[in-house]
Amino acid sequence: MVCALDGHALLALWEGALAQPDALRGDAVLRHACDEDTTALSLGERNLRLGALHARLFGRGLDLLSHCPACGTVAQFSGDCAALLDDSRTAQGEAPHRIDADGWVLSFRLPGPMDVQSAAARGDGDEFARHLLERCVLACAHDGEPCAPHDLPLALLDRLSQRIEALDPAACVSFALACPQCATRWDARLDLGGLLWRKVQAAAERLLLDIDTLARNYGWSESEVIALSPTRRAAYVQMAAP
Ligand SMILES: [Zn+2]
Repeated sequence: MVCALDGHALLALWEGALAQPDALRGDAVLRHACDEDTTALSLGERNLRLGALHARLFGRGLDLLSHCPACGTVAQFSGDCAALLDDSRTAQGEAPHRIDADGWVLSFRLPGPMDVQSAAARGDGDEFARHLLERCVLACAHDGEPCAPHDLPLALLDRLSQRIEALDPAACVSFALACPQCATRWDARLDLGGLLWRKVQAAAERLLLDIDTLARNYGWSESEVIALSPTRRAAYVQMAAP
């Protein structure tokens, strides 16, 4: 895996993202590499930008692993981030969106990365989902009486979840897999922000190791090592190996 950035830009990107909490490092990579603030983006719009940045820095191909939820067998699969996240999956319409059903009227917006971070701090599973949806409700009323998002019945929250999914189709990137051992089927969800961060981290750490090796053996500075072409750097690292 080769990163398309030059060494100085790669290390600056890695250093900037490392200073952020783990869950926001993908957003930090996007901010540093593209000057793009993700806080106002929907999850789908964020994924489209993360996919485009992955294609630019590391290529379109995704080689992924997931574990079968029934027997733990590792399933290997691959994808194409540009094809997964093409423009046909752009979020639809502008907030506020509206649901009018069974005496309930609610207006809502699409969830973004800060909503996920807040909901994750409140719990997981149903608690996470409920908190995430409630954060996206801008106003709600039942039979004309205003109410709090916390009062919304489960059926309406399900409906809200379905509407959000339809309006922001790139919000969830998942792969339908079947276990080669026990034939269990599951959806493997892809965390593109986490994936992009791990690739930046791996490429930066490999470069730092090369700089360390060549600085110790030849006395070269960080800038002198970075100025070498990747081929020459690899050759010197090989010669410096004990
Ligand atoms: Zn299995």
